[in-house]
Amino acid sequence: MATSQNGWPASPNPSSIDIAAFSVAGIPFPGGVKSGDVATVLGYVAEQFHNRVEQLITPGCWGYNYRPISGGNSLSNHSSGTAIDLSAPRHPLGQRGTFSGAQVAEIHRILAEVDNTVRWGGDYTGRVDEMHMEINTDPGRVATVAARIRGGGDGPTPQPPGPGHHRTLSRGSTGADVALVQRYLGIAADGIFGPATDAAVRTYQHNQGLTADGIVGPATWARIDSGLGHPGTDPGSDPAPTRPTLRKGSTGPAVRELQTRLNTSYPAYSHLVADGDFGPATEQVVREFQRRAGLTVDGIVGPHTWARVGF
Ligand SMILES: [Zn+2]
Repeated sequence: MATSQNGWPASPNPSSIDIAAFSVAGIPFPGGVKSGDVATVLGYVAEQFHNRVEQLITPGCWGYNYRPISGGNSLSNHSSGTAIDLSAPRHPLGQRGTFSGAQVAEIHRILAEVDNTVRWGGDYTGRVDEMHMEINTDPGRVATVAARIRGGGDGPTPQPPGPGHHRTLSRGSTGADVALVQRYLGIAADGIFGPATDAAVRTYQHNQGLTADGIVGPATWARIDSGLGHPGTDPGSDPAPTRPTLRKGSTGPAVRELQTRLNTSYPAYSHLVADGDFGPATEQVVREFQRRAGLTVDGIVGPHTWARVGF
């Protein structure tokens, strides 16, 4: 069977590849999308986009459509039902800057919540397509993310569970309970359990005499709930995250976090070794990011660049 650009089966016959009707927040996506895990993940992205970035409009949202990539030879990911367009008239193909910097940061946050299994056309290195979202990985990873979304607790603002009813958290977890742990540990509370959170949890566990496995399970939750060994600010307070200004020669966990975020959010041009060492390669990627984001291109990661990276 033919495949679309992302490797998923494509067909001019939509029923042969499980295309089903699709709508988000009452807005129809003519053409539909591939049912099951793809619909769950794209549905999450579109719904969060609608709630947090910009309200969807109709007509203007689209799904499955068997066609070549405009101006190219390979089949568009719309041909496999693994791509959607959001509010097309507002975000025309090829036009850059149809979203504000804050909106772009929010889009990247949403994509991080689905482990970047979805790619945004605004991040294309060639001609940008800011209306466009597409599945950018294999069925296995999409299934993992879809299961987490269906399991609940993965929304942007679920209520933090009470003591004794905590969800077990680890690398890849997202949500308000992750932010709760991050605030407790005194690190940036972005609600995404990434490498920096993993490191902070392990340090806390080590200092508390717990098994330092980076997994916030019942024992670690119990210690956090007890308030013992509290390393940072009060639980529940919401300090503005402060991040060090980084430049060539900087080292440490913040550099590693930056490198990891650049790699996961901008795989088109960021392939850094996340070694916590801000060398020439990291500087080059930072400059490229700044150039694309319309920031001052100085290779220095200060508050503006941190914010645009999505922190
Ligand atoms: Zn599209």
